[in-house]
Amino acid sequence: MGRIKNKQFAVIGLGRFGGSICKELFKMGHEVLAIDISEERVNAYSSYATHAVRANATEESELHSLGIRNFEYVIVAIGANIQASTLTTLLLKELNIPNIWVKAQNYYHHKVLEKIGADRIIHPEKDMGVKIALSLSDENVLNYIDLSDEYSIVELSATKKLHLKSILELGVRARFGCTILAVKHNGDIQLTPSPETVIRECDCLVLMGHKRDIKRFETEGM
Ligand code: ATP
Repeated sequence: MGRIKNKQFAVIGLGRFGGSICKELFKMGHEVLAIDISEERVNAYSSYATHAVRANATEESELHSLGIRNFEYVIVAIGANIQASTLTTLLLKELNIPNIWVKAQNYYHHKVLEKIGADRIIHPEKDMGVKIALSLSDENVLNYIDLSDEYSIVELSATKKLHLKSILELGVRARFGCTILAVKHNGDIQLTPSPETVIRECDCLVLMGHKRDIKRFETEGM
């Protein structure tokens, strides 16, 4: 997957969700246009965006004068006001924005956004809830990404059993068919570690593989 570089992002709605996206993208060095209907919100983000502008995203003329049609990615993070979120998405779609990502409030909102043609629909609370449930039920899992129904990438905290063992000795590939993408040790990250890399307790292992194999590594290998 290619890293998104030098792309232009617009974030509409600077609540907690949109605000975090805006700050993070800006911190990564991207160009970010931050938009909110509230002057106060806009002022709060003036140092965390390339431009922070007050506008009502449901007004076609206001979107037009912002030059939003030149943006490759637009994130609609208008939460509570479903009508405003939906109308904004529709207007962006009509402007042929190639990537429209929208925060959905509920199932019905999701269905409508899908019909309008939002490219990605996000349910932050639901997604975070699933992640937290997984971390609670399995305390070694620090984080995970679903690549598909079958494959995922997980961050695991190394147990005592792994202490001072090499990746080769652990048989991550041979016994479990998984790949260690990275090892994090005291804040340092080693990408694509060699089979000789030695693991220490509490290191963080970033492991990719079939979910069944990852589970097997967790139960039999750690
Ligand atoms: P969060 O949970 O992320 O804090 P929320 O779900 O509470 O967000 P809201 O506060 O409803 O979301 O909306 C997020 C932001 O969207 C607010 O700052 C609000 O001012 C802004 N907003 C609402 N309507 C519009 C609009 N028509 N145009 C631009 N911004 C808007």
